Amino acid sequence: MAESEDIFLRAKHRTFRGLSEDAERQWKGPFCFIQAADPQLGLMKAWRDGDCDSGGEEWAEEVELTKQAVEAVNQLRPRPRFMVLCGDLVHAMPGREKAQEQDLKAALTGTDPSIPLVFVSGNHDLGNTPTPRTVEQYCNAWGSDYFSFWVGGVFCLVLNSQLFYDGSACPQLKEAQETWLEEQLSSKPKPKHILVFQHIPLYLKSPDEDDDYFNLQRAVRQHLLDRFHKAGVKAVFSGHYHRNAGGCHGGLDMVVSSAIGCQLGKDTHGVRVVVVTADDVVHRYYSLEQLTTGGLDEDLRELLKA
Ligand SMILES: [Zn+2]
Repeated sequence: MAESEDIFLRAKHRTFRGLSEDAERQWKGPFCFIQAADPQLGLMKAWRDGDCDSGGEEWAEEVELTKQAVEAVNQLRPRPRFMVLCGDLVHAMPGREKAQEQDLKAALTGTDPSIPLVFVSGNHDLGNTPTPRTVEQYCNAWGSDYFSFWVGGVFCLVLNSQLFYDGSACPQLKEAQETWLEEQLSSKPKPKHILVFQHIPLYLKSPDEDDDYFNLQRAVRQHLLDRFHKAGVKAVFSGHYHRNAGGCHGGLDMVVSSAIGCQLGKDTHGVRVVVVTADDVVHRYYSLEQLTTGGLDEDLRELLKA
C-alpha cells in the first residue's frame, strides 16, 4: 500500500502506527501536538474575487501553504505526537469539486509517518445544513465525523460541530452524537486532561456574546459549556474564524486558531503548537515562516524537557 494511502487509512481507522490504545492511556510526560484549521482549498481566490458562494476556481496557493505547514511541522523536535486539522479542509461545498479534496490529500502526504493526522469536519466539508448523504461522503473521504482517542494520558474528543449548528436535516445523526458525547464525558478512567476539537468555536471572545456566523448559538453553546465544565474539559480547539481569538473562562480555554489558508484578519498563515504538561495545556500560534525558520520558542522547549 502506498504511504499516502496509509496516512489516511490510519486516520480513518483511528489506529496510530506503533501505538496501542492501552499504552496511550498512561501519562508518560510532557508532549506537543499541532492544531491547525481551514486549509480551505479554493477560498483565497474566491475571497479576492468577492464570490465566496462559488466553490473556488483555483487553489494552488492553499496547496503551497499546506505543504509549507507540513514541512515546518516535520522538522520540529521533539516531534509532535499528532496534527489535527480543525475543519474546512476544502472550500467547495460537498459534491461540487472533488479535485480540491484530492489535492489536499496529496499536499498532506509529505507529513512524517510518525505524526498521525486527525481530521475534523467543517461547514464547508459537510454543508451548512448537513444531510445523511453529506456526512456519509465526508466519512468516506476523511474518516468518522466524531470520535475519541487517547494520546499520552490525555483524552481527546473530535466533534461534528455542524450537528450542533444545524442538525435539522439529519436529526438521527445529531441525536446519535449527543448520546455518544454524554457517554464519553461520563465514563472513563481519569485522564490527565480532556481536550475537545471542533470546527465552529463555542464563542469568539466571551461565553455570553451574541450569536454570529462564527460562533455556536447561545443555547447550544451554554448546554455544551455546562457539560464540558462538569466533565473537566481543559480546552476546546477550533477554527472557522480565520483569525486568532478565544478566551479562558471558568477554567475552560476556548481556543480559536487562524487558518493555514485564507486570512480574514491581520494574522498570518500559520498553525498552533500545543504543549501538554502534567498541570497545563500551553499553546502558541506560529506563522508558517516563523515555525520554519525558528522552530519552537525556548520556553516551550523547556516545558517539554520537564
Ligand atoms: Zn468554517
